[in-house]
Amino acid sequence: RRKRLVVVGGVAAGMSAASRARRLDPDLEIEVFERSGFVSYGSCGLPYFVGGLVREPGELVVYTPEFFRQKRDIAVHVQHEVTAIHPDEHYLEVRDLVTGRQRQVEFDTLILATGARPVEPPIPGLDLKGVHFLRLVEDGIAIREHARALVAQGRRKAVVIGGGYVGLEMAEALVAVGMEVAIVERLPQVMPNLDREMAELVHDELRRHGVALYLGEGARAVLGDGGRVRALDTDARTLPADLVLVAVGVRPNSELAEAAGIELGAGRAIKVDEFMRTSHPAVYAAGDCADTVHRVSGRRAYIPLGTTANKQGRVAGENAAGGHARFPGVLGTAIVKVFDLGVARTGLTTREAALAGLEAAATTIRHGSRAHYYPGAGKLHVRLVHGPDGRLLGAQMAGPVDAVLRIDALVAALHAGMTVDQLYELDLAYAPPFAPVWDPVLVAARQAM
Ligand code: FAD
Repeated sequence: RRKRLVVVGGVAAGMSAASRARRLDPDLEIEVFERSGFVSYGSCGLPYFVGGLVREPGELVVYTPEFFRQKRDIAVHVQHEVTAIHPDEHYLEVRDLVTGRQRQVEFDTLILATGARPVEPPIPGLDLKGVHFLRLVEDGIAIREHARALVAQGRRKAVVIGGGYVGLEMAEALVAVGMEVAIVERLPQVMPNLDREMAELVHDELRRHGVALYLGEGARAVLGDGGRVRALDTDARTLPADLVLVAVGVRPNSELAEAAGIELGAGRAIKVDEFMRTSHPAVYAAGDCADTVHRVSGRRAYIPLGTTANKQGRVAGENAAGGHARFPGVLGTAIVKVFDLGVARTGLTTREAALAGLEAAATTIRHGSRAHYYPGAGKLHVRLVHGPDGRLLGAQMAGPVDAVLRIDALVAALHAGMTVDQLYELDLAYAPPFAPVWDPVLVAARQAM
């Protein structure tokens, strides 16, 4: 028989892997099992679907199962859950969620791309109607319909638990559909992957748009009335709520691997090497279910993001088809829009550098994002984290939405192991609509030298 590759999970990592393997090996039999009703969708677009910028859920889907079947000869089975894997015996068990039928499927090579799921904090009331999590397209549809129905009835109170990027993007989306939003965050700041000084800019922006912030307050219980959410109890107060969104991070779907004796790594994600191999020779893993290495700290890290999932998936797919591709690790680069503020970060914050045992100093500047006379200029804050030898360790930015993609210059500098002196030498682009003659990145580098 033809050699068979089976992929578990059909989103960013899974479909990238299947597609890459197909391109390299036209003879391989490829099957993908996906528990939800959609494959190849962008969870990243869900806040914009909830907020109404994206009209139809179908717009978030890159390709359909039919596309993969017809154009790429990849058999995609949606609403099929893999319930156990047996790598030594080279088969897995899968259940058709529509018919309930269970069967066994053999494989030569397996790629686990099972992703992650929202963390459920240990508080009572999460099963009440009106409490939401956001991960799947189905979740996005449910939140949008619920929020619109509530607004139509004049019930507008939404509480978001968690001030990470999903919580922030969803706060904006819920404001856009007409809700009054409060964010409850246990830490003293939102976005724990920013230094405090930069997070304060995010706090200001949220408050400017009417979002109430309750920082340093843990959620204690969701309270209900007749099975429906009514309020959220925090350590300090009771907040009325018609809708609660829980966005306190994600946890890797690594149980299938763990049950099969495959080693776990950072954040209890599946431990992989740079070729995306797990501890079992027949099994690869990629995306939000897998860990990686942080290029600055050199430590194992769990930083689940769509960009990484696509790249790791491609590497896993290539190697599963006999190739020799490498995934070089991550810098924790992230970018987010919070109303009219763009925020971006890469590498280590001051706090993360200390945790990694690295001595670090930081330099923060504020500079025009365009030539001062050109309309639409705003202030861009740039923070550089650097070692005693001047080596760049990380960077953060906050400012006009179209200005913060400059973070990518700093990503390249970090990859190259540059010092702030070398950063200052870069021939960055200038014309009045885009930047001042001294780009804010150069101004920050000069100050850090
Ligand atoms: P997933 O997308 O989690 O897909 C895994 C799939 O596997 C799921 O569909 C699941 O149903 C399926 N599965 C799991 N177990 C089984 C099983 N046993 N059998 C069958 N199927 C199974 N990242 C960014 O880089 N930038 C962003 O702006 C960004 N925004 C985001 C916004 C939101 C609201 C969310 C939720 C995520 C966002 N992300 C973003 C993260 C990004 O969506 C994920 O990193 C990415 O989806 C990971 O892809 P994946 O294929 O590894 O896993």
